[in-house]
Parts: sequence; structure tokens; C-alpha cells
Amino acid sequence: MNKDSNVLVMIPGPTPVVDSIRAEMARPIQAFGDPRFVADYRKLIDDLGAMMHCNGQCFPLAGTGTLAMEMAIANNTKKGDNVLLVSNGFFGDRFIDICTRKGLNVDVISAEWGDFVTPEQIDAKLAEKDYALMTVTHVDTSTAVVAPIEAIGKVAAKYPNTIYVVDGVAAEAAEYTNMETMNIDVLFTASQKAFGVCSGMFIVWASKKSLERRKSLGTIPEYYVDYEKWMPVMEDTSKYFATPAVNLVWAMNESVRIINQEGFEARCARHTKNAKAMAKAFEALGFKYLAKEGCRANTLSVLIYPEGVNDAQFRKEMLENGVVVAGSLASYAGKSFRMGHMGNATENDMITALSAVERSLMACGVKVELGKGVGTYLAEMAK
Ligand SMILES: *Cc1c(COP(=O)(O)O)cnc(C)c1O
Repeated sequence: MNKDSNVLVMIPGPTPVVDSIRAEMARPIQAFGDPRFVADYRKLIDDLGAMMHCNGQCFPLAGTGTLAMEMAIANNTKKGDNVLLVSNGFFGDRFIDICTRKGLNVDVISAEWGDFVTPEQIDAKLAEKDYALMTVTHVDTSTAVVAPIEAIGKVAAKYPNTIYVVDGVAAEAAEYTNMETMNIDVLFTASQKAFGVCSGMFIVWASKKSLERRKSLGTIPEYYVDYEKWMPVMEDTSKYFATPAVNLVWAMNESVRIINQEGFEARCARHTKNAKAMAKAFEALGFKYLAKEGCRANTLSVLIYPEGVNDAQFRKEMLENGVVVAGSLASYAGKSFRMGHMGNATENDMITALSAVERSLMACGVKVELGKGVGTYLAEMAK
């Protein structure tokens, strides 16, 4: 394979980037003070704020999803605060390290992998002590479990001193979210997942309540991710704090245009239908889902191999068939693989990916009826 060989990237991010978004990445650079760019950045901030019904401030900045996690913690807690981390897998657990390093008192409630922490469990825990903040992962990319963020939001509303943070990195723009109706105080995502853009930009949406929390903290130790440093720029995009990712702003504007053209709710519904059809297809091929029924994400699947399939060989065969999928994490490594099916990945991409799965299973010695996965998918999508 040479460096430009085309493989279909079906991992849980980066996801396929459509031509019109790639064209934005390739545009000649402009100064960040150029009035044309100043207007383009203004538009992105406003459109993203409206998309998630944010009553405070949205911050689309250079960095990845992990930096957004730090920003959420940095602006809403101070050393010694109690925080409740709700974990449905690897990315939920990532907050443990971030919060421990900051000197926060960390309590964790974890679900078995494949399951989710219930709103009732969260309610019981929040009642125990005063928590400054709680984190929930919307879709945990290690398990493909989607958390009931709306029901959790109803619980969170009973605890006004607790900032409700949702990690939407593997969810936003594909799983329906509305900060207002779901009582979410801080939401964040990154460009390379369901927005279908190259990696390098993250977005934090901070509610009014979160902006007020930040104000109450005085000076915070963190610099780049401080809301207060960015507020003047978000309010007047001709101002400078740190250099904006110019081409990523354009690429995100194009992504938002595509999302709004399809319609935000229609896009989420498309993802739901697609994920269900993929599940039927995978089950027809003998795979089992790690995520239990009733909490399966729209955006990706974690698929447990049929008996006797070697993970490394399977993924090598997939690559030879032109499709990249991801390995699994922790105790599921070697036993399952992960396929992203989000953003601007098309039905034709799904068909290509499923046909590669069939051929790769066959190469791994599994008796498969060729076309069974693809046929099941097509039949489900035609319903
Ligand atoms: C990918 C991901 C992250 C980390 O984002 P990076 O852009 O890789 O830093 C965090 N949370 C979830 C749920 C993710 O899927």
C-alpha cells in the first residue's frame, strides 16, 4: 500500500471525510484577522450553539476531545471538590485520571462492560454528598453503550449545585441531544467523529450555569482551556487569544451545513435506522453484540467474534479487502472488534464494509453464506 492508497476507514473516528469537507481543508490559508475568516468563525460559533440549544457559550477550539475533557473539569471545579464519575467503559474511566491529577475527590460508579449505570443508581449516589460536578459518557467508544442522558438530566435537575457534564465525543451529531430539555450543563465533542471532519478541533458547549460556576472560581491554574481567556474571542471573533484552526473552522462550517441540510433530527433518525440494520446484518453473520439490547449506540458497534476467529488475522483480511476496523480495548481485546458507522459514512460504505466482513470471515475459516450480511442490511434498510 502506498501512502495514498484508498481504504475505507470504518473505525470510531476519524470517520470518512466527504469531498466538500476535504476541499475546505485544502483552501488557501487566510489570516485569522481577515474579515472573511472573522465572519466564518462567528457563523460556526452561532450555528453550533443553536444546534445543541446552548443558553451559554460554545467554544470550537483547536485540540482533541481529551482537551475538551480537561476544559470541562478545569472550569467547573476547584481542588478538593467532590466529583461523581459515571463510567460505562474506557472513556468514562479516563476522567478518573484527569480529576485525580487535579486534586479532586473522585467517586466512581461503573457499569459492567456492555451495560450502563442507571439514573436510579446515579440519584442514590448524588444524594449521599455535595458533588460539584458529575460526568456521563454519552456513547462510550469502548463498549458502544449509549447512556440515557435525558433521564439522567431529570435526576441532575434535582441537584442544582452539581454541574452535569456529558462527554459527547462519539455521539454528537448522530445521537439526539438538546442541552435545554436534557438539563445538560457542559457538553463536548470533537471534529473527527460524527461531525465527519478531520481530527484537530473540539467543541465545548457551556451553559449559563457553567459560565457562572467558572466566574465563582476566580483565577484557575489552567491557561489554554480557561473559559475566561476565550470569552472575548467567542464574543468578538476578530480578537486573538491563541491561533484558531482556520481550515478546520471552514471544514466544520461545511459539516454543519451538511447536518442542517439533512436536518439534525433526521440525521439522528438515519443513524438509528442504520445501526439497527447493521446489528441485524452482524447477527446474521454470527457476531454477538457487547452492548446489551436497549443501550446500543447509533454511532458504532462492538462485535464479539464467532468461535475460532483470530482477531489479528481478521483485521488483516479486512485491510486487504480495503476496510479498516478497530481492535477492542481492555479485556475485550482479541475477542471483538469495533466498527464505526457514523457521520457522513454512506449506505454504500456500510455495504462495502459488510462485504469485507463476509470475505474476511471466510478467509478466517468460518463457513459463511456470502451476501447474507449485505442482504440482511439491504432488506432492513428497505423497510
Ligand atoms: C474519542 C473519544 C474521546 C477522546 O477524544 P480524542 O479526540 O481522541 O482526544 C473521549 N471520549 C470519547 C467518548 C471518545 O469516543
